Amino acid sequence: MPVSDPRSRLALGVAAIALALYALFFAGDYALHVLTRAGIYAIAAIGYQLIFGRLGALSLAQGCFFGLGAYAAGLGALELGLGFPLTLAAGVLLPSLLAALIAIPVLRLASHYFALATLGIAQLALLVATNWTDVTGGANGLYGVPPIETGTLSFGHGLPLTLLVWACVGLALTVSHRMTAGQRGLKVETLREAPLAAAALGIDGSAIRFRFFVASAAFGGLAGALQAHAVGVVSPDVLQFHVLVLILAMTVIGGRASPLGAILGALLLVHLPEWFRDFADYYLVVYGVALLAAIIFLPRGLAGLFGKSKMPPVETADAEAPHDPAPLTLSVETVSKRFGGVTALDGTSLTLAPGEILGLIGPNGSGKTTLVNLLSGIEKPDGGRILLGDADITGKPPEHIARAGLCRSFQHPQIAPDLTVLETVEAIATKGESAQARVIEAGLSTHANERAGTLPPAALKHLEIARALATGASILALDEPAAGMNEVERAALATLLKRLADAGHGILLIDHAMDFLLPLADRVICLSAGRVVAEGSPHEVARDPAAINAYFGESPL
Ligand code: ADP
Ligand code: MG
Repeated sequence: MPVSDPRSRLALGVAAIALALYALFFAGDYALHVLTRAGIYAIAAIGYQLIFGRLGALSLAQGCFFGLGAYAAGLGALELGLGFPLTLAAGVLLPSLLAALIAIPVLRLASHYFALATLGIAQLALLVATNWTDVTGGANGLYGVPPIETGTLSFGHGLPLTLLVWACVGLALTVSHRMTAGQRGLKVETLREAPLAAAALGIDGSAIRFRFFVASAAFGGLAGALQAHAVGVVSPDVLQFHVLVLILAMTVIGGRASPLGAILGALLLVHLPEWFRDFADYYLVVYGVALLAAIIFLPRGLAGLFGKSKMPPVETADAEAPHDPAPLTLSVETVSKRFGGVTALDGTSLTLAPGEILGLIGPNGSGKTTLVNLLSGIEKPDGGRILLGDADITGKPPEHIARAGLCRSFQHPQIAPDLTVLETVEAIATKGESAQARVIEAGLSTHANERAGTLPPAALKHLEIARALATGASILALDEPAAGMNEVERAALATLLKRLADAGHGILLIDHAMDFLLPLADRVICLSAGRVVAEGSPHEVARDPAAINAYFGESPL
């Protein structure tokens, strides 16, 4: 639930007022203490949502960042004599720096290795804290961390501390909202659900992952620093695994992508043991059941109870016409690609002019998808050059190539299923591009507010094209867009592609249906075992003995 829509803003406002009234007028000392603890954990959970909820990366280091924040603030106060705002800064900085340092090697890892690597780091931090006795106090930890005071103001305990902590929750909410509101959030969702497509559409995934991982560490550290001041003690306990488990549980129960959910989760899980104190022995059972129930019955967490807000409907009347593309010529010069012993492409060359539809045909395994992977930077060629206009894009990363003007679709559509059609395109739209105009252009206006995961296959293919166009791409490489379509759907796709070519887009079109491809293409290239065996007008290639031999079996004409 984004904080940006009016309903959630209202809910947030009401909740904040209710919480403030409770704290001011009804909560006794102990209740305030519990509320403070909930606020501290809410900050850590809001941070954890960024990496785990938003990016779907199972970091097992959030508890470690929390603990490091506590140690940094405690040591800052006790050893360096730092005052309050500086101890908090130290608590934020130390884990952020650690996250930034490890981000480069660790964030590249596939998800389960990422989890293991972050777990390793957490274990290492615990070892250091326990054994570096001179500095950390070893197993005894640090005692006498001073309460928070600035000048004459004291936030040591009771209501002032609660208010300060919840002000920090507000700050965390604001920062997390800034990182995930609007198009940023849509980009992140695309990155999580369809990382390959995200890269091929120009989203710089590593930069986003880096920012979110460091931010998660910063929030974890802030929470730990507040905790150190609130309880006055820092022991290796803050680095133990149960801290992570608690934060993880709050995030899952609250809702993995809703900051409001993180707050609800923290309030609930900090209060649960209080409410069930009489069942002390069964507490873990209650806890486990609550967690399981949340996962089974509330897949979107507590925040899911509030529902998802709708985008405003698409107005077809006043949408501006889409831009014409910059005229770009694609030149592929003798590229080759081997996978182990398999030569997928063997000195393949072609050119694609602006406004041209170039059909690419060939039997399965002849290298068509590999060529599109090389063009879009998903794979690097072993030899040869690829030029986009005058720019050499050989071996460049996908997001670079997308921004240079070449976009591709995938043989199996790669989308974020929960985003609507309009949001899917909006996530990608570059400056000056109108997602709405691209949705209309692709004939998807009736589907605009439907979730992409519910679209029929033909509409999905159109969506991939609309999204590619929204990058401002001049050249489209479409990998079997008509596969699985019926006559009517193919005709609609043909009309769209024809119109795009007329507007100046160069289109590389892979397809097996000759009654679709041959009338549409200006030229056709036939690949076999990674080599061009025939090239020319559709008419020529259809009658070419090499193409008939390699692919058709008999002439399709
Ligand atoms: P097409 O799209 O024309 O059906 P591909 O480009 O997918 O063909 O495949 C060309 C050849 O390269 C095939 O022999 C395929 O098995 C091989 N190939 C493609 N991608 C990989 C990969 N990532 N690893 C190993 N072999 C691959
Ligand atoms: Mg293929």
